[in-house]
Amino acid sequence: MNLQLDISVTAGYRSPSQIARVMTEDWVYRNMYCPRCGHERIRRFENNQPVADFFCPECCNEYELKSK
Ligand SMILES: [Zn+2]
Repeated sequence: MNLQLDISVTAGYRSPSQIARVMTEDWVYRNMYCPRCGHERIRRFENNQPVADFFCPECCNEYELKSK
């Protein structure tokens, strides 16, 4: 598991809270697996969903990233 956050994904963002969110989301996207079914990768919703940021394509479980 790669614990390093990729700073390059923050290009274009200025506020610290936005940067933290983007970096965390990127890390989750690259490293997180589904804790429910064990699928190797969860996927990010293309558009900003109000309730869920990620979902598992295998079991369709949805995950909300707590960034506050
Ligand atoms: Zn799953």
